[in-house]
Amino acid sequence: CGIVGYVGPGSSLEVLVGGLTRLEYRGYDSAGVAVLGDDGVIGTRKRAGKLGVLVEELESSPIGDGHTGIGHTRWATHGGPTDVNAHPHFGDGGRLALIHNGIIENFAELKAELEADGETFESQTDTEVAALLVGRAFHESGDLTEAMRRTVERLEGAFTLLALHQDAPGVVVGARRSSPLVIGLGEGENFLGSDVAAFVEHTRRAMEIGEDQIVTIRPDSVEVIDFAGAPAQAKEFEVSWDA
Ligand code: GLU
Repeated sequence: CGIVGYVGPGSSLEVLVGGLTRLEYRGYDSAGVAVLGDDGVIGTRKRAGKLGVLVEELESSPIGDGHTGIGHTRWATHGGPTDVNAHPHFGDGGRLALIHNGIIENFAELKAELEADGETFESQTDTEVAALLVGRAFHESGDLTEAMRRTVERLEGAFTLLALHQDAPGVVVGARRSSPLVIGLGEGENFLGSDVAAFVEHTRRAMEIGEDQIVTIRPDSVEVIDFAGAPAQAKEFEVSWDA
C-alpha cells in the first residue's frame, strides 16, 4: 500500500518511519522495514497493526541503523494481516529483502514451480514469489537491477516492487507496472516512494517513472531502464503543493 526507499548518508530508519507516517492516510493493516546495517547485515522488523506497533518494537528490540533501507505499509490482498505476512519478504537465504504494492496474478503457478525446485515459503502472500525470484536471479547474475529485470519479465498483474540486497550496499532497485512509483532526488541521497508524501519532507525534486520501468537509486545516481533493459527517460518535476 505505502512504499518508501532510501539510500544516502542519513538514518534510514528515520527516513522510513517518517515516510510511512506520511503515507498513513492511505490506510493499511501492517508495517515493516528492512535496513542494510553498517555491519553489512539486513536488520528487519515487521508487525501487523498500526505503525505505532512497529515503532514500539523498534524501540524495545532495536536493529542497527544504516544507509540503505526500504519500508512498507501493507493492505492485505493475499494472506491475512499477520506479522509473518507483513512485508518485507526475503530471498537468497535472507540476504535479499523486498516489498510490494499490488497483486501478482500468476503467483500460484510461480509458487508451485519454486516449490518443485526446493524453495520453501514462510508466508501466504503473493509477494513472496517475487522475493524468492529476485533472490535467485541475484545469486545468478550478481546484479540487483538485472535480478529485478529478470523477475518482472515473469510477473503478471499490477505491482510496485522495491528490493535491497546485502551484497549491494547503497543500492535500492524499484520496478513498476500499473502501480505508482516516484523518485525523490536529494543531494548525495535519493528516495523512492509510492507517492511524493514518502519523501517530501526531504526533497521537492521528483521524477516520474513510466509504465514497465525499473529504477536503480544510489546516493549519487539514478538510472531508469525499461523491462527489456534499454535506457529510459524519466521526467523531473517540482513538488509544488504544501505537504
Ligand atoms: N498483495 C500483497 C499482499 O497482500 C501486497 C498488498 C499491498 O499492496 O499492500 O501482501
